[in-house]
Amino acid sequence: MSADLAARIRASVREIPDFPQPGINFKDITPVLANHTLFAEIIHALAEPYRTADITKVVAIESRGFIFGAPVAMLLACGFVPIRKPGKLPHTTQRIEYALEYGTDILEAHVDSLAVDDRVLIIDDVLATGGTAGAAADLVRLLGGNPVGAAFVIELGFLAGREKLVKLPVTSLLCY
Ligand code: AMP
Repeated sequence: MSADLAARIRASVREIPDFPQPGINFKDITPVLANHTLFAEIIHALAEPYRTADITKVVAIESRGFIFGAPVAMLLACGFVPIRKPGKLPHTTQRIEYALEYGTDILEAHVDSLAVDDRVLIIDDVLATGGTAGAAADLVRLLGGNPVGAAFVIELGFLAGREKLVKLPVTSLLCY
């Protein structure tokens, strides 16, 4: 991953203070998506470390994870599996409940979305505290899959989210 790409992503991300709640400095990636060359470079850079990793499924987290996960799955020539908020998936689901700073949240995936020993790359736009991606990795394991990596466009390094992704290689294109 080039420092130049990180600089161009940083220049394109729009920071929205106090959204969706006070104290959160929201990284708005919509200007990045609107720039087709930058968007394409990001997709290639997310996929690059995993080209020879025999990934069989990309699993992405609702909803911005889908934007990056689906094209990465196409590049890696593997299947795509959505992880969604509760009540969105139509078939029987496996769910996982995980702790937030205050309270808990739930993620779901279809029970038959992964085969035993599927080699899974987890994708999301932002790694913050790592709670969401950690829960996604646990959900993959519950479904019989083998998480082999997690890739993010942006990492909020000061929140140490990668420490929650124990034993899972983490890549990010831009770290704050
Ligand atoms: P976390 O579970 O704390 O790692 O949060 C990760 C999820 O929340 C990801 O799906 C992100 O899209 C979203 N998120 C967390 N913090 C931010 C932020 N500062 N800007 C944009 N999205 C964020």
